[in-house]
Amino acid sequence: MDCKYCDFLKHGHLPDGMQPVGRVNGADALLLIDSKHPGRCVLVSPWHVRDLFDLLPTQRSEFLEAVSRLAKVVSTACAADKVNIAFYGDLSDHLHAHVVPKWRDGPCWGDAFNLQPTIAEEPGAGPFSNLSWTDVNENLRGLIRTGN
Ligand SMILES: [Zn+2]
Repeated sequence: MDCKYCDFLKHGHLPDGMQPVGRVNGADALLLIDSKHPGRCVLVSPWHVRDLFDLLPTQRSEFLEAVSRLAKVVSTACAADKVNIAFYGDLSDHLHAHVVPKWRDGPCWGDAFNLQPTIAEEPGAGPFSNLSWTDVNENLRGLIRTGN
């Protein structure tokens, strides 16, 4: 099986452009280095299934609770005007959720976020103009650790 998320869960190999920020209700949250949407995370299902409807009801409930909690963390950490949540998976057989902060005056407001990340050395957008990726990561990590 060639699954980047199982490779991460079983062997700790991080997918390209992602950094771990913690576990939320049993699911791993990864910060995606995307300067267009700094603070954007991917929440990885603990189970290798393709779709939400492939999970058992208790698993689905746990994972959706994790998505909701992570969305609150991202909203708070990023001072977002809205957090978009998306389940795509066209190119991955491993269920994951995109949790994406948006700002009224930021990229893609009123439209779907751009799935392809804009990789840059500094976050550089929204409230992060003076912060490094390490700062963004630590902000998310701190909120996840304290359960907010
Ligand atoms: Zn997998």
